[in-house]
Amino acid sequence: MLGIDNIFELIFIVGFVAGSVIRKIYTFRCRHGKAVRKHKSVVDIILISAGGLAMAAPLFYIFTPWLDFADYHFPEWLGWIGTAVFAMALLLLWRSHADLGRNWSAILQIKQEHSLVTNGIYRYIRHPMYAAHLLWAMAQGLLLENWLAGWAFLVVFVPLYLIRVPKEERMMLEQFDEQYNQYITRTGGIIPRFRK
Ligand code: SAH
Repeated sequence: MLGIDNIFELIFIVGFVAGSVIRKIYTFRCRHGKAVRKHKSVVDIILISAGGLAMAAPLFYIFTPWLDFADYHFPEWLGWIGTAVFAMALLLLWRSHADLGRNWSAILQIKQEHSLVTNGIYRYIRHPMYAAHLLWAMAQGLLLENWLAGWAFLVVFVPLYLIRVPKEERMMLEQFDEQYNQYITRTGGIIPRFRK
């Protein structure tokens, strides 16, 4: 049947809309600010575009019959775990955008008046926004009973993360030098490190 057939698809759509609204609001707020350093590569652009498509795949799964060949079934409790994971992803996405403020950009760049954020969620973890995307990718798989729509984003996000983070940290070190070096020693990358 086409359309939303179960509670987990509904939960996914609600989370997807909430996440898209958070992203849109902050993209609008961050639209100004010229770049003083930019790291744009073809691989990055291909992976970001593939990531966008993989995030949208659930809409094709829910609203068209095109991906039905990849359906499968799993126990209901996995869907409830997916719901909790999606809620955490949205919370992290919101907090990381709120704390990063105008320093955020989809591509790797340093803007004029860029400052190093080390407070809020960034006190414990250097990549909360990527952690949010990783949780989102896992939640997508746990909420949707379809191999393609469920897991495509995770398959794209893992290489994107592995390629992007070393480049981002190199760029931040070039810009903030000892301040970023110190920051690395006190924080976790994608898993928070809590200090006394
Ligand atoms: N890796 C971070 C930010 C992702 S957005 C996270 O996962 O939350 C990518 C942009 O954020 C990069 O272009 C970089 O300029 C900026 N950035 C990353 N960490 C930052 C920090 N601690 N303070 C200020 N800007 C940061």
